[in-house]
Amino acid sequence: MIKPADLLEAHSLDMLLVTKPANVRYLSGFTSPEDGQVVVSAEGMLLLTDSRYTVQAEQESRIPLRIFRQEDKRMAPADLLKGRVGVEAQHMNLAYLEALKERSAAEYVPTQGLVEKFRQVKSPDEIEKIRAAAALADRAWSHVLSYLKPGVCEKDIALELESFMRRQGAEDAAFEIIVASGERGAMPHGVASSKKLARGELVTLDFGALVEGYHSDMTRTVALGKTSKKLKQLYHAVLEAQEETLAQVGPGKSGKELDAVARGVLQEKGYGEYFVHSLGHGVGLAVHEGPSLSALSEDVLALGNVVTVEPGAYVKGLGGVRIEDLVLVTESGQEVLSKSSKSWLEL
Ligand code: ZN
Ligand code: ZN
Repeated sequence: MIKPADLLEAHSLDMLLVTKPANVRYLSGFTSPEDGQVVVSAEGMLLLTDSRYTVQAEQESRIPLRIFRQEDKRMAPADLLKGRVGVEAQHMNLAYLEALKERSAAEYVPTQGLVEKFRQVKSPDEIEKIRAAAALADRAWSHVLSYLKPGVCEKDIALELESFMRRQGAEDAAFEIIVASGERGAMPHGVASSKKLARGELVTLDFGALVEGYHSDMTRTVALGKTSKKLKQLYHAVLEAQEETLAQVGPGKSGKELDAVARGVLQEKGYGEYFVHSLGHGVGLAVHEGPSLSALSEDVLALGNVVTVEPGAYVKGLGGVRIEDLVLVTESGQEVLSKSSKSWLEL
């Protein structure tokens, strides 16, 4: 378990004010973290929230709790903050910081990624939740396959996926579902539109489930009947890049070298210029977190990391392919948490 000193040492802080919801949830267990804050000091951690959450926070919080009136909640930490106080620069907004400064004599120090660093290594309990979220996405994929037909619009497919996952126990979809068919497949982040699927196209679905605060993330691309040879070649190139990279995931591997493996395979096949995003990212209480697998990443994989491996190729005017699995870094290398088949599939 993370200790106050782990968070305070790096910047010689007296306190750290944690406002980023995923971090508040991580430190406290409180499941409405957007209405909570955590104050970390040498004495320990304290969850601050307001009177609407008295019962819930008492039940959920693993750390001591202080309840404020709803109208006082934002300024609640002001009286507590003293000395050098770290704030989360990527989440804290300027107006709030100014208001805190007016009400306390503390010295505010911008920090980045202090709690996030610990979130990268998942506990067995966190892994079980991510595993459940991945399994639910796998079931949703099997379920939605029969809906992938010419004439059905992308939005209806997204809706079916989401409602299936929620009926099966997901709190929500992990993020806005991507359904990109035909030429729209060339948009890596083409969220479902009113376009109808058509015969001879590829369709890419990128989705995940949210289970007890933890996300999953997977992508599959399938063909709607017979497609052009070009699309089939594109698919097999991406699949080879994905499988080759996946097999190399393990502790000690850097995000940069894994990205280079996938990029190398695609370059060799003449598709290098079409792989326009990074290889992958960590997944947990946030759907995008560390470690990062990219050409610019400084991260090195460690036991207990959960990351995606998701190479893709996007060709304007033709279409796109992405294949994404969620993978746990283990002693022996990796355990792939996404179990759905990646074989070429013509529906
Ligand atoms: Zn994804
Ligand atoms: Zn992803």
